[in-house]
Amino acid sequence: MKTESQLPMTGANLWKKAKKIIPGGNQLLSKRSERFVPDIWPAYYKKAKGCEIWGMDGEHYYDFAGMGVGSCILGYADEDVDTAVIEAIKNGAMSTLNCYEEIELAERLIGLHPWADMVRFGRSGGEACAIAVRIGRAATGRNKVAFCGYHGWHDWYISSNIASSTNLDDQLLPGLTSKGIARQLGGTTLPFRYNRLDDLEKIVNEHGKDLGVIIMEPTRDHLPEAGFLEGVRKIADRIGAVLIFDEVTSGFVVNLGGIHLTLEVTPDIAVFGKALGNGYPITAVIGKKEVMDHAQDTFISSTFWTERTGFVAALAALRKMEKTQVQKLMISQGTRISEGWKKMGQKTGFKIHVSGLPPHTHLGFDTDSNMEIHTLYTQEMLKKGFMFSPAMRCNLAYTSTIIDQFLKASEDCFDIVSEAVKLNNVRSLMMTEPASTGFKRLT
Ligand code: PMP
Repeated sequence: MKTESQLPMTGANLWKKAKKIIPGGNQLLSKRSERFVPDIWPAYYKKAKGCEIWGMDGEHYYDFAGMGVGSCILGYADEDVDTAVIEAIKNGAMSTLNCYEEIELAERLIGLHPWADMVRFGRSGGEACAIAVRIGRAATGRNKVAFCGYHGWHDWYISSNIASSTNLDDQLLPGLTSKGIARQLGGTTLPFRYNRLDDLEKIVNEHGKDLGVIIMEPTRDHLPEAGFLEGVRKIADRIGAVLIFDEVTSGFVVNLGGIHLTLEVTPDIAVFGKALGNGYPITAVIGKKEVMDHAQDTFISSTFWTERTGFVAALAALRKMEKTQVQKLMISQGTRISEGWKKMGQKTGFKIHVSGLPPHTHLGFDTDSNMEIHTLYTQEMLKKGFMFSPAMRCNLAYTSTIIDQFLKASEDCFDIVSEAVKLNNVRSLMMTEPASTGFKRLT
């Protein structure tokens, strides 16, 4: 086992430097070291292949910490996807004309979702949600949006916290402020909780004739209660609102398409991102013609939404997902890992909970000092060469042997942590401050 002095620290030191010249340190909250093991997390990589990452000092890790925030379900630097992308780059990734792969990808996504007729594309999940909401408002001519879940950083969404600074707390991220957003947007975006049709009915009672859009993740960590999604669909139909399913995270996780195909509830628009391009930036907004056509009534346009590599990557990724049946594999991997954790919990008597859809299986520690315990566990896993986060993501590159090694390392770390809890010395074994979730200034 590596000791503190043996842990390579170049990446951790780079992170300190980054925070001085990049406000917030980087471009994505989920890649902040403070969320894992502050001051120790490797933070930067030189190479990523399959489910392996090599840090700045050449140190080697297996990635059980999210696989590029859920974007690489085929593994990093997948050869089939990369070959297609390299070919596209050689033939010019940008030109004055459009790339024909846009149409191929649109047809492919419509083929996978026969209820949809038209598609627009973007590059990030947040902007795709903003496109979808804009189309929904344009289609209905109404102002207000009801939402459930996380949908990105854009003004329409974060403005929810103007009316109440805690509106977004239940929706994944506490601590978000609405600074920098026009106050006049306050009260236009209204939250409802998952599985709480009564919340949505209340919004409808108060704002019914102004409510044009309902946007939600069809599922996040667990499946909906019977009748919930169907109930939302009925409400949208009753009041004439556009129903958007944000499948940026849930898409391509349990099947080759949106999870709504499995849940058998059809939206008017669905948004995809993350896994679609296996790490290359491409997001899609698919929908029914009568709604999507309103994208022509409003200005939605951007130079790099036309760049070629994203489309080509998505087409190659979809081909490979279909060929490998990766979703089935991820379900069995996740089931195995969660069973393993449950056994470790029973063996040590340590209080844990295991949740999430199998491909996104999630480990949580149920104690008063859970952030300390989580930090110690992540620190010890790192010493054993495993990057760990509760938001781990299964993928094509996990072999049975790698999962065996991961479970063995997990068991050892469970023992270390449960022993530390018994001896009441968790804090003294920690090499850093506890990790923190939520949003806050870093410097
Ligand atoms: N919607 C959902 C459901 C998400 O999970 C995310 C990202 N975590 C987003 C939107 C935003 O996507 P991006 O980070 O690509 O902008």
